[in-house]
Amino acid sequence: MSKKTGKGEQMKYVVVVGDGMADYPVPKLGNMTPLQAAHKPNMDAIAAKGRNGLLRTVPKGLTPGSDVAILSVLGFDPTQFYTGRGPLEAAARGIQLKENDIAFRCNLVTEKDGILVDYSADHITSREAAKLIEALKETCEKPNEIEFFSGLDYRHFLILRNSPNSHLIECTPPHDAIGAEVSTILPRAKSEKVEVEKAVILLKEAIHKSKSVLESHPVNIARLKSRKRPGNMIWPWGGGKKPNMPSFKEKYALKAAVISAVDLVKGIGIYTGMKVIDVPGATGGDNTNYEGKADYALKALEDNDLVFIHVEAPDEAGHAKDYKLKVKTIEDLDSRLLGRILEGLKEPYALAILPDHPTPIRIGTHTKEPVPFAICSSVLKPDGVQKFDEFSARDGAFGTVKQEYLISLLLSLPSSK
Ligand SMILES: [Zn+2]
Repeated sequence: MSKKTGKGEQMKYVVVVGDGMADYPVPKLGNMTPLQAAHKPNMDAIAAKGRNGLLRTVPKGLTPGSDVAILSVLGFDPTQFYTGRGPLEAAARGIQLKENDIAFRCNLVTEKDGILVDYSADHITSREAAKLIEALKETCEKPNEIEFFSGLDYRHFLILRNSPNSHLIECTPPHDAIGAEVSTILPRAKSEKVEVEKAVILLKEAIHKSKSVLESHPVNIARLKSRKRPGNMIWPWGGGKKPNMPSFKEKYALKAAVISAVDLVKGIGIYTGMKVIDVPGATGGDNTNYEGKADYALKALEDNDLVFIHVEAPDEAGHAKDYKLKVKTIEDLDSRLLGRILEGLKEPYALAILPDHPTPIRIGTHTKEPVPFAICSSVLKPDGVQKFDEFSARDGAFGTVKQEYLISLLLSLPSSK
């Protein structure tokens, strides 16, 4: 339902997500959160002109991550539609899954003396990694059951063909297990069903075998010589079947586009039938092309009703426990992306700004507290909140709302004054 105003212009919707922006008070920032400490006139203007609230993005029982949280933000209940991270990222790489396939994210990791020492193999390059994944493909003894696909940097894919439900296989995300003994964190069957145990054996065999194939590979010999950690083992995790989601258009009768540098978010776009727009220079880091994302978003609104823009950089700063960088990424998002969008947007529109989940500096990983959100539109009366942050949002008119309500809130706004 593309809403028309009295004059016939169509209402446009913009959702901007700063990944992991929300945080706890940081002592070195005078006990302010990075959002409170950052100079961010555009976010504050949206909060002051519009209405505010807190959004639960991580339902009970699910792990806080961008996969789950962004499905929530888009209004696709993750308790219903989330199957795992693997299939979402695989979709962005063009990997086709059949009904009974499980796609796992397959990291190239570094193992030393039985210990997992690096989840990213020292941030191995895509070029080096492609050769290692090729070697795994060539030596795979069960190509009908296991298939490898290369992706970007240390992030690759392992597909188990014709396999049981992925939720019965427990895998450890490698970034949560640095320093652990490999033998204690191997995949485990959560059921005694024969096919589940068989799948777990296949995964364990693949992990052990990868060590013998990769350790002596010329790419790793060269890395060791230049004092870089080798990608000497694979680590499958985040497995899931192809999710079965309605498209954005079926669900909301709107044409939507997504802009992100991250495969996970692009994959969500693919499964929900959004147009996935690649922006040159968009990186997922703090060197991303903020202006380009804004310009492509404005352009996308010419033939889409809604555009979803995702910026990864604040999350990376949170993982790095770098509070100065986190403040900078918020300020860059504000001045170089959000300001540019607000300048270029034509009435009538509704715009929402929010994080997907907190990535607090203090702990360096995701948490599941509700996140602040602000929506501004010329049809909304302000609720008196003046700033955009975790604490100000508590006084907002929307209160604390359930995960899948953000898009519904946006779409329920009257389309003219
Ligand atoms: Zn993260």
